[in-house]
Amino acid sequence: MSRETLIDLLYLFSATTFILALKGLGSPKHARKGNGIAAFGMLVATVATFFKYVDGHALHHVWLILLAMFIGVIIAVPTARFVKMTAMPQLVAIFNGVGGGAASLVSITEFVHIKATHPATYVTLEVLLGVLIGTVSFAGSAIAFAKLQELMTGRPVTYPGQQFFNAVLGLIALALIITILVTNSTALLWILLALAFVLGIAFVLPIGGADVPVLISLLNAFTGLAVAASGFTLGSNLLIVAGTLVGASGILLTRMMSKAMGRSLSNVLFSAFGSNITATGDGNREDGRTVRSGSPEDAGVLMSYASRVVIIPGYGLAVAQAQHVVRELAEALEAKGIEVFFAIHPVAGRMPGHMNVLLAEANVPYEQLLELDEANSELQTADVALVVGANDTVNPAAKDDKDSPIYGMPIIRADLAENVLFLKRSMRPGFAGIENELLYNPKTMLIFGDAKDTLTKILATVKGA
Ligand code: NDP
Repeated sequence: MSRETLIDLLYLFSATTFILALKGLGSPKHARKGNGIAAFGMLVATVATFFKYVDGHALHHVWLILLAMFIGVIIAVPTARFVKMTAMPQLVAIFNGVGGGAASLVSITEFVHIKATHPATYVTLEVLLGVLIGTVSFAGSAIAFAKLQELMTGRPVTYPGQQFFNAVLGLIALALIITILVTNSTALLWILLALAFVLGIAFVLPIGGADVPVLISLLNAFTGLAVAASGFTLGSNLLIVAGTLVGASGILLTRMMSKAMGRSLSNVLFSAFGSNITATGDGNREDGRTVRSGSPEDAGVLMSYASRVVIIPGYGLAVAQAQHVVRELAEALEAKGIEVFFAIHPVAGRMPGHMNVLLAEANVPYEQLLELDEANSELQTADVALVVGANDTVNPAAKDDKDSPIYGMPIIRADLAENVLFLKRSMRPGFAGIENELLYNPKTMLIFGDAKDTLTKILATVKGA
């Protein structure tokens, strides 16, 4: 078997592991294994590439490549290991941006290389698409990172005629691509690069912080397409397969996230959602209704006498790092013969699967995790719904109030349970910035405080009861 055939077979093996990995990532139970399989496939592909002959020559600049890889490892490993779960979306944004930037650089290098070695050869479409899509993804991801990291405002940045301006930028980019294909002009390539950079920034500015995770998923799909374009440019089947997988799964994930929020993708991208924060955050309503608050001890006693409890985790659980104590509480309740479930909303937290990852980290059994529909049917007969740092995902306005910005989003029906215990620190709203009617429901008791502290006190009461 020739060296090239062996390398192609290894690439085929790697591509297969990526597909198997995606299958594993489809369920919380197998996600870790899926990740491991993909990492192994990537390792095999990377090592195989070092033995590849390009134009009849062995790989050049091996030490430089190894040095670049070493620097990458030094930066990436500690960053990924020590990142807080609440900061994961911005980490994904920046990693994704780097991928898009790399794909763009590959295309630029190829353009310059073709011009230098074969001046009469015209560049092909995929090279220019690689530059455009990769750079848009790089610049857009950088702005998404800045928004989530609070280096700039997370609110939509809008101005009159913005969508028109963005559409014109897009059309100019397409016109440039056609002109470069005809003229083979390097000067126009640099203009395309600059324009793609501005387009990436302009595209992301009007998208509000609440929608940025959906945007990141879309930019991830863009990076995949840019990588696939690089694959065509370099004649690498592996890059084509890997890029297409990322592109397709990114688009599917984007659609699933939009659907879970009950909104269309165009609404997410173009409506500047989050411009209007309507909640006052002081707990006073015009109709004079107020909230009822209680102590962790009250909550502990109520739960000790329940027969079925549904715990509804949200973003605040991640902020408080309360996943371990909530698992201990579930175990203490079960020890008393009480049935306990966790209701997982698909967009609870700040990224897809956020709650699954947190609860898996705390060894909550998968059988206890219920998806939306299943959870809602359990809630009909639950004595207590314990809302831990969730807000928008239990807001009844999503089904009752046609004027609400979150109208149409499927919610966890905490309001169906006989009693609702609501753990949060203040009357501040959730990510969507809107009032939550459930807080004023007579069956709701608010327990103010950090979720971890409150749960620790509830646990002590349950154990002592
Ligand atoms: P929310 O953002 O609606 O609410 C979080 C709640 O947690 C707040 O009420 C906050 O109140 C409370 N909280 C924060 N820190 C603590 C703490 N230390 N202890 C106790 N409570 C705390 O969260 P949800 O998970 O319900 O909703 C997710 C939102 O994010 C939705 O709007 C969703 O559309 C959006 N989103 C999610 C994506 C995803 O993929 N998961 C993607 C895009 C958007 P207080 O400050 O008073 O404590």
